[in-house]
Amino acid sequence: RTVYINGDFVPESEAKISIFDRGFLFADAVYEVMAVLNGRLLENAGHIARLERSCRELKLRLPVTAAALEAIQNKLIAVNQLREGAIYLQLSRGSTGDREFDFPQAEVEPTLLLFTQARPVIDNVKARTGIRVVTVEDIRWHRRDIKTVGLLAPCLAKEYAHSQGADDAFLVEDGFITEGSSSNAWIVTEQGTLVTRQLSTDILHGITRRSLLALAARHGIPFEERPFSVEEVYRAGEAFISSATSFIWPVVEIDGKPIGGGKPGRVTLALRNIYVEMALAATGN
Ligand code: PMP
Repeated sequence: RTVYINGDFVPESEAKISIFDRGFLFADAVYEVMAVLNGRLLENAGHIARLERSCRELKLRLPVTAAALEAIQNKLIAVNQLREGAIYLQLSRGSTGDREFDFPQAEVEPTLLLFTQARPVIDNVKARTGIRVVTVEDIRWHRRDIKTVGLLAPCLAKEYAHSQGADDAFLVEDGFITEGSSSNAWIVTEQGTLVTRQLSTDILHGITRRSLLALAARHGIPFEERPFSVEEVYRAGEAFISSATSFIWPVVEIDGKPIGGGKPGRVTLALRNIYVEMALAATGN
């Protein structure tokens, strides 16, 4: 694979950063993951806008314009001949040549790196079979709206889920689901209403979440943005997660209890199809 680092396109084995990089020492870095379909970026403007917001919140300098960034992304897709998968982008505050908590006073070059990942997005087995989740306490910090690389809590949550024979975790705070460990969480009530938590600093403002709400509105699918409890998921007709690279994956079991008879739900699959159609149309198919 060819990767991008600070202005250069190099083989991945040649990409190097300082041991003093603040991304490495303090998780002082933000990131984005964009889906690639048919060799084209999906929802890229939304992801870049969120990146710019994360940077603003952390007083991090984005060293390139949005247009330059997109050119870098497209070059990386081309050189790696990526048809379907993702682009990972990370921006850290760079290296001060020592370990100091304070933000550097002098102008320090941030570290910008991007790489590609090939993986099935449209024809993914999880999209067909659905996933099983377990609930786990949400122990993350209180600014989940900022997409930082401090991801130890979701790593622990996924590790725990796998130890329980499940695929992923739903994170719980005060009895209510915040989100999935790397996705937004949704249920469909018995009446067929979509429910997902409202935007706040408690969750990441998912780009896929926002598009799904817009598509639901256009297709007359009722939705509510509000917190929902673990008990409500147990009683839900359907459940699913959303993210850039999964689109929608049905959730067919939670804490060992089947949801909707343990099969992907009707509304869930309909909404996934609507999103897939939009995605294919947007990427030229
Ligand atoms: N919440 C969390 C915690 C995530 O890591 C992700 C994946 N980036 C999402 C939600 C979904 O966001 P998006 O649809 O923008 O990928």
